[in-house]
Amino acid sequence: MKRHITVGKVILVGAGPGDPDLMTVKGRRSLEKADVVVYDRLVSQEVLQFASDTAEKIFVGKKGGYYEFPQGAINLLLAEKARQGKQVVRLKGGDSFVFGRGGEEALFLSEAGIPFEVIPGVSSAFSVPAAAGIPVTHRELSSSVAVITGCQSEDAAVPVRWDQLATAADTLVVLMPGRKLKHIVAQLVLHGRSFDTPAALIESGTLESQRRIIATLRNIEAEATRNAIRSPALLVVGQVVSLAEKLAPENGLAELETVNPAGLMRLGGF
Ligand code: SAH
Repeated sequence: MKRHITVGKVILVGAGPGDPDLMTVKGRRSLEKADVVVYDRLVSQEVLQFASDTAEKIFVGKKGGYYEFPQGAINLLLAEKARQGKQVVRLKGGDSFVFGRGGEEALFLSEAGIPFEVIPGVSSAFSVPAAAGIPVTHRELSSSVAVITGCQSEDAAVPVRWDQLATAADTLVVLMPGRKLKHIVAQLVLHGRSFDTPAALIESGTLESQRRIIATLRNIEAEATRNAIRSPALLVVGQVVSLAEKLAPENGLAELETVNPAGLMRLGGF
């Protein structure tokens, strides 16, 4: 008699930057068919609703600023569900392989012999600037772009080389800039970027609640504080930022002035 072993599969799906319509068709289809959905904080409720009512939905993001689930526990959870024969969708904001630790999960699954698939997502790194009127490259203003983490511990295995990055790429997109915005600006200026370089912060890009600040490296941090910019937000530095007001005028500072900065200051940055 033939023995039948059912092995499920883990599908690493990028949910896109926030607007549910910016999720890929392939990602959405896999989500609709999933038995189990393991998702992070950046995944919106609207996206989650593409999953079936009967799917088991497990949140493994931060709660109250703390990671309840260490990466090792998430890896084991994915493996366990797949071994039960389930179709598991591991859903992350943007693209799983852009500062999403998707690579670590894929490596774990590969080593554990669990079938997996990667469905790329629309990363916030390029789509959020675009939705706010900033083309990350532009023939007369920028022929290169670097995507950088703004949130790194002192003992990072591969430290960001601010000394080289400050001037190496025309456009810099810094994800997770919140807590370290002051430090990031200081590093860029110290290593040769002018204080007058245009800089933008975009909060909740592609969502209804999107807000955008246009400033320069000189005053971007003060403006972030004044307008109580919150997570998720990203920083764009470079001459391309000067196009924003022309390409997406409706996102301008006028909206921000309606915000009361006093009540909105938050601990822990963005
Ligand atoms: N894998 C994700 C990035 C994860 S790191 C991707 O490819 O987009 C999380 C950071 O992404 C946030 O701190 C923020 O800097 C940025 N981010 C994600 N979604 C965003 C959004 N809608 N608006 C602004 N920034 C966003």
